[in-house]
Amino acid sequence: MKKNVVLYKKLSAELMTRLQQQAEVVLIEDPKKPDGLARLRDALPQAHGLLGASLKLDAGLLDLAPQLEAIASVSVGVDNYDLDYLTKRGILLSNTPDVLTETTADTGFALLMATARRVVELADWVRAGQWQKSVGSAHFGSDVHGKTLGIVGMGRIGEALAQRGHFGFGMPILYHSHSRKPQVEERFGAGYRSLDALLEEADFVCLTLPLTAETEGLIGAEQFARMGPQTIFVNISRGKVVDEQALIAALQNGVIRAAGLDVFEKEPLPADSPLLRLSNVVATPHIGSATHETREAMARCAVENLLTALAGQRPADLVNPAVWAKR
Ligand code: NAP
Repeated sequence: MKKNVVLYKKLSAELMTRLQQQAEVVLIEDPKKPDGLARLRDALPQAHGLLGASLKLDAGLLDLAPQLEAIASVSVGVDNYDLDYLTKRGILLSNTPDVLTETTADTGFALLMATARRVVELADWVRAGQWQKSVGSAHFGSDVHGKTLGIVGMGRIGEALAQRGHFGFGMPILYHSHSRKPQVEERFGAGYRSLDALLEEADFVCLTLPLTAETEGLIGAEQFARMGPQTIFVNISRGKVVDEQALIAALQNGVIRAAGLDVFEKEPLPADSPLLRLSNVVATPHIGSATHETREAMARCAVENLLTALAGQRPADLVNPAVWAKR
């Protein structure tokens, strides 16, 4: 008999067909709206598998799904899940690493370039018809090439960012991570630093670490004070790694020069956020992996992870291997 899958993210026709060949599928298109949430709650008691993204699946919801065997998240970040709870219940959680690494690094570099060269601010200025003579120093930006790139969280995305900075722009690379990465040091000539030293030395500080209990609020007023007034800060990890009020104060008071932000404490970013009134901010709507090709590759990866788990096999991208070890 086919197992029941609740899908809380729309798939391409090809992937939907693939999933439906193996499972009975219920699609909940908008689980964050009251109607969608009610339908999700109705579907959970029958669910053996869940597939989707960007939804906080806490115990309050998952307790409604006593038959649940596996969740396939269409993301690499797993901060929307309570890993201890899932592991205690024996539910396999998988994610979609690797397939989004290069695209997310592209986004990080786009933010870094746009912020340093004031691309959005000046493009808006041109569009508003204000370009009436050659620009002067009031409109100059900062160089990117040759400047020091500091990467906090030297994992897959951090490394792809280092590759762009080192080989593309001749940037000296500094990094901070849990552990030293000899292959990164060798390949990019990267230097390991404590977090404080990196913040003090780097011209660009880019966050590429996961949101965990340990990293929540990692960058606050004290850390911004360690950066210099010319420092450009880029966050493509998760909003809550940063104390957003402290970031706003640092940007308003010239403690740092500018910020390129893809992620925020609250998403969607509220329209009255002070960040949207600052000309030294480039804000994008959490588009790290949002290209046609990469989102399809992520969805494919999640479908295969889920079908593998529901077939009683170990999914390739298992996040909580302790569940498997107990079997
Ligand atoms: P990854 O390969 O697991 O890399 C994360 C790195 O962070 C690891 O190298 C880890 O160090 C380091 N790290 C973890 N906790 C740390 C801490 N407390 N202090 C210092 N370093 C720490 O993950 P990834 O694939 O690169 O993805 C990273 C994150 O990017 C994801 O978790 C997600 O939140 C975010 N992301 C955002 C978007 C977007 O749309 N903006 C898209 C994709 C991913 P060790 O290796 O030493 O343990």
